[in-house]
Amino acid sequence: MRIRGHLYRPGSSERVEAVLARDGGGRFRLVRADGDDAGRDVGLRVAGPLLAGVPRTIALDTGERFVPFEEPPGAFLGETGTGPWRRVTSPGRVTPFRMAVLAALVVLAIAGLRAAAPVAADLAAALVPHRTEALMGELAFREIDALALEPSELAESHKARLRAAARALARLGGVDPAPEVRFRRAPALGANAFAFPGGPILVTDELVELLGDDDRVVAVLAHELGHVEARHGLRQALRIGGVFLIASLALGGDETLMEELVALTVSIDAAGYSRTFEREADAFAGRLLPAAGRSPGDLADALRILIEDCGERCEGGGWLSTHPDASSRIEALTDRPGTD
Ligand SMILES: [Zn+2]
Repeated sequence: MRIRGHLYRPGSSERVEAVLARDGGGRFRLVRADGDDAGRDVGLRVAGPLLAGVPRTIALDTGERFVPFEEPPGAFLGETGTGPWRRVTSPGRVTPFRMAVLAALVVLAIAGLRAAAPVAADLAAALVPHRTEALMGELAFREIDALALEPSELAESHKARLRAAARALARLGGVDPAPEVRFRRAPALGANAFAFPGGPILVTDELVELLGDDDRVVAVLAHELGHVEARHGLRQALRIGGVFLIASLALGGDETLMEELVALTVSIDAAGYSRTFEREADAFAGRLLPAAGRSPGDLADALRILIEDCGERCEGGGWLSTHPDASSRIEALTDRPGTD
């Protein structure tokens, strides 16, 4: 069984065509299509769920990435497919504090209460240093950047104006350090904005063009700042990752664990934040925009425009599928600005 695809160097968008073959014993062999090598045996694992419009990534043990032209049949990947709970490895340094947290988490897990999962996740999030969170966001950004993003075609002066507005909002809202705003053209994602854990914030050229008015883009940035400030990306990753992942993290994660968190972060961008997190980010923008002499109505306008435009993407992922109750949110922003 063999599949064709692109092979990416670690941390690079440079790629060559390659063929990944699986033999009867479940071993994988990679051959570059340009005939540069005679092929080599590789170990692999499959990164998290698909981001809408982005092909599945197969991570090789060499640090390279293989992106198949078409979704491979389930039998091809077989036993190598991993969820976050299957790659967690040996714990690091155990401190009494971490043991106490772990004990609390185990009690919550045994209680089997679904309602306890967010509590456990937020408890664990408090243990994750900001620099770990930022690293997680940075790695997830690079993953998506290499696979689905192209350089922005917006004018430098235009990007600088939007960045300056975002910095001013971050300062006013106490979001410290101020997240970096990165602009990219993204044909696969369309009009979108994502807040990665600890920043950066991705804004697509398509979003800037569709909204057609910088005040609306800035309003979306205020909403994304709300996600960064409340650490929604990290908290959501821990919620999805489940108690086992949380316990491992509390005990001191290793690189593999970080990879899982990055894969989870990528998948969150596809699945979207919970409604609670969206309302929190809206409420944050609803308070921040008037304080900056702006109108929360700009965010409501942005939502309206995105709803009219999204079509298939509304179901396939992205900013709007992350905002399933958009009309009630528009009402909240227009009827009770800044009071939420
Ligand atoms: Zn949001």
